[in-house]
Amino acid sequence: MLILLDIDGVMIPATSWKAPQIMDDGFPEFSSRAVNSLQRILNETEASIVLTTSHKFKYSLKEWKTIFITRGISNFSIKKINNRKNYFDRKQEVLDWINKKEITSGYVIIDDDKSLNSLPLNIKRKFTQTSPLVGLNEERANFAISILKDF
Ligand SMILES: [Mg+2]
Repeated sequence: MLILLDIDGVMIPATSWKAPQIMDDGFPEFSSRAVNSLQRILNETEASIVLTTSHKFKYSLKEWKTIFITRGISNFSIKKINNRKNYFDRKQEVLDWINKKEITSGYVIIDDDKSLNSLPLNIKRKFTQTSPLVGLNEERANFAISILKDF
């Protein structure tokens, strides 16, 4: 199973009143609520993380693994939705990935990008949209788990 994971507005909630705290590795910290919620999805489904975030090319997979471990995530594997192409449109990037993989279930898209609501219905059913100001929380995590387990 796969978790298509965004970071801004998901692991790092947007705040208009203060910049996110930058950790020693130069990347912002994740909210503790998002860390706990993501860990629960990983524990209950043993899904792998597929990074969709626009930050994905900034770091190697080894560096991403360390970034997640440093922020409290454990027992996971991680990859990127694609290794080269810079998309400006998250929806198109997800659509291309689905078409390439030819998968119909066993994945969930966790993102705050509302353009994903216009995905074809069979793919939109795999999408749980976070509120950018809240990020990933227990309720969104529960929904993600139910999507992953719905075969
Ligand atoms: Mg985002």
